Amino acid sequence: MSVAIRLVQLRKEFGEVVAVDDLDLDIADGEFFSMLGPSGSGKTTVLRIVAGFERPTSGRVELHGTDVTRAAPFERDVNTVFQDYALFPHLSVRENVEYGLRVKKVGRAERRRRADEALETVRLPSFADRRPSQLSGGQRQRVALARALVNRPSVLLLDEPLGALDLKLRREMQIELKQIQREVGITFVFVTHDQEEALTMSDRIAVFNQGRVEQVATPVELYERPASRFVAGFVGTSNLVTGRLAHDLVGHEGAFSVRPEKVHLSAEGEAPRGEVTVPGVVVDVVYLGSATHSLVEVGDGADAVRLTAMQQNSESSLDHALSRRGERVTLSWQRAHMVD
Ligand code: ATP
Repeated sequence: MSVAIRLVQLRKEFGEVVAVDDLDLDIADGEFFSMLGPSGSGKTTVLRIVAGFERPTSGRVELHGTDVTRAAPFERDVNTVFQDYALFPHLSVRENVEYGLRVKKVGRAERRRRADEALETVRLPSFADRRPSQLSGGQRQRVALARALVNRPSVLLLDEPLGALDLKLRREMQIELKQIQREVGITFVFVTHDQEEALTMSDRIAVFNQGRVEQVATPVELYERPASRFVAGFVGTSNLVTGRLAHDLVGHEGAFSVRPEKVHLSAEGEAPRGEVTVPGVVVDVVYLGSATHSLVEVGDGADAVRLTAMQQNSESSLDHALSRRGERVTLSWQRAHMVD
């Protein structure tokens, strides 16, 4: 792979706080790459260091093989789209998009041609003469994107760009943003704390935890083969089984997690389907339309935990699944689905 961004032993301290903890990371050319993690895990700091707004305490940033650690933001072939897109209210949409080209002294005709092309890319060609105040939130976000794309950077950094949008619009923009990225072929580095968003859009995802990257993988790998309990818990939902209970019930030394859809539930007299079997009692059943979640209490007294088994609903099994509360059941799963 051709590397667009390489971070080498990148470190950033703010006083006592280690925001970025000796990070090594390669992002490929043309990739839609997401940095996913909880608030405070260091994603934005990494992005700001790549953009040049922040100096690392130590370590190195390379863009297309060139060390830019000490380069000013404008000397780097990158552009940033922020959540608060900060459009100029007194300028038209086209003038907002042209702004960067004007600063670079690009001629009027060329400016206009490129701005209109960028507005077409973000599917807003007919809005060129409006003011930002005459646009919806989603449309303003597109203008901000056009304003970055017009500079034709080789890398676009996006810091929670969809964070201000309502959920429905956000979902629509996720699909479009991914399509736009494919069309323009620019490397996108996208910061989000929304795991579903990252799974929807990314070629690869880095999961951040306390200034470190726990795993870098494709969405499918991340979901199906999480490298740690933290990743399993942060990406999708997971059952966590504590160390002692794990030892008592399944002979497994430490704590582990297992996804609800990997847990099979069998009634008394029905054969379990997994290698690991655990008895329990159904304490609640939650109907979710296409699937049902059964909450099963496992273990006794203070050690008891509730595990969720998820089943896809079919008409024939639904009535039975919903009437299970209070039933003794056996949970089972394959060893391969346990994450330490
Ligand atoms: P969020 O999703 O909330 O934006 P994040 O993962 O992007 O979080 P960062 O903003 O990179 O996290 O912050 C990482 C850590 O560094 C946090 O503990 C934060 O408080 C600290 N930090 C960030 N910027 C500064 C600063 N300018 N001065 C002091 N501490 C900072």
